[in-house]
Amino acid sequence: MGRIYYDKDADLKSVSEQTIAIIGYGNQGRAQALNMRDSGVKRIIVGSVKDRSYKQAEQDGFEVMPIESAAKAADIVFMLIPDEVAPPIYKEQIEPNLEAGNTVNFSSGYNIFFKHIIPRHDLDIVLVAPRMIGDGVRELYKSGEGFPSFVCVEQDASGKAKEKALGLAKAIGSTKQGAIEATFADETILDLMTEQGIWPIIYNVFTCAYELYKQKGHPVEASLMELYMSKEPAVMMERAADMGFFKQLPLHSRTSQYGQLTGYNKVNLEPIKSFLTQQYERIKSGDFAKEWAEEQEQGCANLEKLKNESFTCEMSKEEEELHEKLSKQ
Ligand code: NDP
Repeated sequence: MGRIYYDKDADLKSVSEQTIAIIGYGNQGRAQALNMRDSGVKRIIVGSVKDRSYKQAEQDGFEVMPIESAAKAADIVFMLIPDEVAPPIYKEQIEPNLEAGNTVNFSSGYNIFFKHIIPRHDLDIVLVAPRMIGDGVRELYKSGEGFPSFVCVEQDASGKAKEKALGLAKAIGSTKQGAIEATFADETILDLMTEQGIWPIIYNVFTCAYELYKQKGHPVEASLMELYMSKEPAVMMERAADMGFFKQLPLHSRTSQYGQLTGYNKVNLEPIKSFLTQQYERIKSGDFAKEWAEEQEQGCANLEKLKNESFTCEMSKEEEELHEKLSKQ
């Protein structure tokens, strides 16, 4: 088991007197900046292009400036622009303005793991990656619950990178629930595997079940409600997180428990294992990152086509009609 760091393991003083530049004031940038200000970090500045986020940061009371200027003024830089646009911005606008011993903090391992960003050796490179969407990062900070994150040091030029990483994890509010030690590789591979291994299987299970129920003549409304629209599976996943993946089973009837566990043991696992392994190797080898970079160079035409196909499939259309019916009650 890896190490988990809590509030008692981290010292806010390691970062509270430093100038922290938030580069990219979007989902994560806004939430992390507001949390750190509430935690007592004295100087937080925002580096942004003149867009919607620039105005939002100003409205929230932050000093906002061009990315180069923010990098120049900072002791610690938060890379919170989307991963796909970050490498040239880092290379041209951020790194040339950093001094030896400055820290660059990532919320995602992607660009370091795939070497799209190769940082200078005189910088501290750390990861504090929330396992939570931006809204949740802010809401769970305000409610006092906190949220988990992955934390690690990739490069320690100052000799104080770990103290700073833990101070940052505390300042954004994640050492309350626990900052789990995990490398840039762990963060990247596990995150991409959820997206490319787990969810494709789940999407297919649900669409296959929908098609079967339809073929057998069950009402579409009842099928969709049973499958996921009641939100019962979402509640079940919450219980799984709180009580245990299998240990939430006693919340279901005995008929359900028996059916779930006997069914669990009947599934042919070989194709599932083989698909997961194939996706894992594709991610780890960099083949996916290469393909995704090429897709972006071509204007994401395939992504748009795939999205359009899924948004207009029969299940999506019937789901839309059901939403409409339900809103007219
Ligand atoms: P967003 O999509 O919210 O974008 C962040 C900011 O980057 C916005 O202010 C956006 O401005 C700006 N931006 C977009 N394109 C450019 C560009 N070409 N040049 C300059 N600025 C640009 O990102 P997230 O907050 O979702 O993600 C930030 C980081 O956090 C990523 O590394 C991501 O992997 C990581 N992360 C995200 C999580 C999430 O749930 N969202 C969870 C955990 C980690 P505008 O929109 O105004 O154009």
